[in-house]
Amino acid sequence: MLLMNFIQQTISTKIASKGKIMADKDLMTPENVPGRYYTDSTCIDCDLCRQIAPKSFTRQDESGYSYVCQQPQTAGEIAQAEEARISCPTETIGNDGE
Ligand code: SF4
Repeated sequence: MLLMNFIQQTISTKIASKGKIMADKDLMTPENVPGRYYTDSTCIDCDLCRQIAPKSFTRQDESGYSYVCQQPQTAGEIAQAEEARISCPTETIGNDGE
C-alpha cells in the first residue's frame, strides 16, 4: 500500500511539474552547503535520497524537505549522490558540476 501511494504521488508530482527537466538553482533551499550538489524547493519529502546517500542528504524537519548537508567526498559518496539525483522523482537534486 505504501508503494502504491508513493507511485501515485510520484506520478501526480510529475504531472504537476510538467516541463521541469532538472533542478532549478534559482529555487535552491537555503540549507544546502556550498558545492556541486544542491536541492531546490520542489522536494516532496519522499526520503529516497536520504536512504540512498545518507551522508550527503538530510531532512529539514520543520518544513519537511531534503537538502545537501555535506558534499560527497569519496568516490562511493559521489556515486551515491549521483544515484540519488537520478532517482529523485521530482528532479529536485541538482549537480552543477563545479
Ligand atoms: S529524492 Fe527528491 S523528492 Fe525525495 S526526498 Fe530527496 S530531494 Fe526530496
